[in-house]
Amino acid sequence: MKTAKIPATGQEFTIGKVVCLARNYAEHARELGNETPPAPVLFIKPASAIIGDGETVRIPPYSQECHYEVELAILIGKLCRAVPEADALQYVAGYGVAIDMTLRDVQNQLKAKGLPWEIAKGFDTSCPLSDFVPAAAITDPHALNLKLSVNGELRQNGNTSDMITRIPEIVAYISIIFTLEPGDVILTGTPAGVGRVSPGELMTAEIPAVGHLSIPVA
Ligand code: MG
Repeated sequence: MKTAKIPATGQEFTIGKVVCLARNYAEHARELGNETPPAPVLFIKPASAIIGDGETVRIPPYSQECHYEVELAILIGKLCRAVPEADALQYVAGYGVAIDMTLRDVQNQLKAKGLPWEIAKGFDTSCPLSDFVPAAAITDPHALNLKLSVNGELRQNGNTSDMITRIPEIVAYISIIFTLEPGDVILTGTPAGVGRVSPGELMTAEIPAVGHLSIPVA
């Protein structure tokens, strides 16, 4: 069982599912040669994929190309089903930082065949996730800087203001398809600058005022 913590309030949630958006930043969609989708593209990582700050990403032997994607994570605090956009933020308990680890070579092969992405996106250790800050502590979740460095070299430097689908719409849209339960996590997509990481390297991800991750790769 994996838990999500909000240290400032002492709250702890058992994580159920991790619902992720793909192609939610136009520049990132372009860098992978994808079109900007008319509706959010969703996939799910199992809770077993989650690791915490300081834990190690282990690249599975069936991949030669593992990519980092830094993302703002949303923690759901209350049961939420087909919620209107105007009410959606009431269901958000906190914000954190995540890295959506992606086996790009495997994903590209699956995409070409029209097959699902789970083995490229949901493998063990594919979801480094920080602790959360209370939602009330973040004045504007659409004005957050996201950064990821590999061995101290800056690779991604984006801002949540560039999201295509914004948080109220994300929560509303997902809640029509999947009932969101307390402890569910949403990954909101990655800005441009994704790239490869290799065994022996160290990833550091940061959203100032939200969270920080320091994750070695093996
Ligand atoms: Mg992603």
